Amino acid sequence: MAETKKSTNTVWHAHTITRDERAELKKHKSCLVWFTGLSGSGKSTLANALEDRLYQMGYHTYVLDGDNVRHGLNGDLGFSDEDRTENIRRIAEVGKLMVDAGILVMTAFISPFKEDRQKARDLLAEGDFIEVYACAELDVCEERDPKGLYKKARAGEIPEFTGISSPYEAPEAAEIVVHTDQKDVPQSVDQIVEYLQQKGYIG
Ligand code: ADP
Repeated sequence: MAETKKSTNTVWHAHTITRDERAELKKHKSCLVWFTGLSGSGKSTLANALEDRLYQMGYHTYVLDGDNVRHGLNGDLGFSDEDRTENIRRIAEVGKLMVDAGILVMTAFISPFKEDRQKARDLLAEGDFIEVYACAELDVCEERDPKGLYKKARAGEIPEFTGISSPYEAPEAAEIVVHTDQKDVPQSVDQIVEYLQQKGYIG
């Protein structure tokens, strides 16, 4: 019987699924849509409405927001400058992994500091980070006050509240500026969807 040589030291070259292959399967590209803006400017509303629209169109989406991040992954973080920065860094890192997994990811955090947003942008490849500025005048946001936070901040119950006692550094070169005090929610979603279509993320 012929001796069959059994190889030793063989290396199993597992085929690594690439991001392009994931995109091919899903029929869309992935990116991180990063909403920023004052409290009450419409970030959560838009992130969720955008996800709803994209889901209806058959795309694979996920929203990272305060509830699913602050309670779990970032449950150990408070609201000091250091912790806010770390909060944003971890969100960006998780977003990056999800983008690699082929998902259209939306994040809805005030993210008031330019430097932190820039760091988040720098973590991702060119074209993977889309900054959406939910832009509304402070008095409109305060009037809306969906969570009653402005009222509490004015009463001095919330220290360092963005727009009242802590600065909001507006983006100067966001990919998309949505004037949520001039458009309704469906129009605002239309604007973002049109951008994603024009840039070829979705069909
Ligand atoms: P944020 O997440 O920025 O704190 P929310 O989404 O919780 O803000 O609240 C925004 C409020 O503004 C909601 O009550 C929403 O219905 C209202 N709103 C009015 N017009 C718009 C718009 N074009 N886009 C988003 N929200 C809007």
